[in-house]
Amino acid sequence: MSSPDGPPLSRVTFDRAAQHRTDDAWLADAWTRAKVVLISPKSTTPVGADDRVQFRDAADARDGPRRFLGVIDDVPYFAVTTEEDGDGWKTLREIGGDIGDLEASLVVSAIGLEQWHQRHTHCPRCGSPTVEAQAGWTRICTNDGSQHFPRTDPAVIMLIHDGGDLALLGRGPQWGEGRFSTLAGFVEPGESLEAAVAREVYEEVGIKIHDVRYIASQPWPFPASLMVGFVAQLDGDPSITLDPVEMAEAGWFTREEVRRAADWTDDLETPLDVGPDVRLRAIPPHFSISRYLIDRWLAGAV
Ligand SMILES: [Zn+2]
Repeated sequence: MSSPDGPPLSRVTFDRAAQHRTDDAWLADAWTRAKVVLISPKSTTPVGADDRVQFRDAADARDGPRRFLGVIDDVPYFAVTTEEDGDGWKTLREIGGDIGDLEASLVVSAIGLEQWHQRHTHCPRCGSPTVEAQAGWTRICTNDGSQHFPRTDPAVIMLIHDGGDLALLGRGPQWGEGRFSTLAGFVEPGESLEAAVAREVYEEVGIKIHDVRYIASQPWPFPASLMVGFVAQLDGDPSITLDPVEMAEAGWFTREEVRRAADWTDDLETPLDVGPDVRLRAIPPHFSISRYLIDRWLAGAV
């Protein structure tokens, strides 16, 4: 299934063939003809000179925890975690702009699983060690037998506009000068996605919104987020009151200002040479859902 207009890391999905996860005979046979994504504990993967992911044949894969990802065109795909990495191994952030849709879907799944296994070595009920089962999709407590499944934490990310030519962008305290993005935050227990959008916007910039509309979602496995993207419109007073812990600054920007920053962001060859009066100089790269929401708004699709 594919959606060519969706966010880059969620345009394509593959058959996860979950019915095979408990079938050891099938898995053993599948391994002999498998393609393998190697993942290091630091979530790097080997890529070629063109930054495309290099899949290995099973015979050339390394030893390590083996997880069954799914099937594409009758070829089984596995992820193997290996301690080694080195030259030519890169993170998803480093290769994100060049990765193909299908590679992206496989690598995001492999990294998400690896991140979850790293963080769930012990049972949340009793503290005893857990072990992998079901081809990497479950961990089982060695003491009480309880089963634990990979976690996905929903986070909302939202482009706020004024109904005219202005969008609200913010800069986190740890980001470089001039680098802005859409607002975002984690969903809290007991909260709807729409309520989380309104709460986060009010907490971070003191602005009320309405007309919250879902646009698209994208996995972000660092370590376990599902970014759920929305647009919403300003309701009333546009004055910004910053939460200084969450936001270093925030502002309303015109399409022309945002488009110019997009051009600067995408032009990696030319050093940026603008005066200190230019507040917005960079926005997120193309493989982020933040950029997807911004580009939709730039195109007038809100
Ligand atoms: Zn336990």
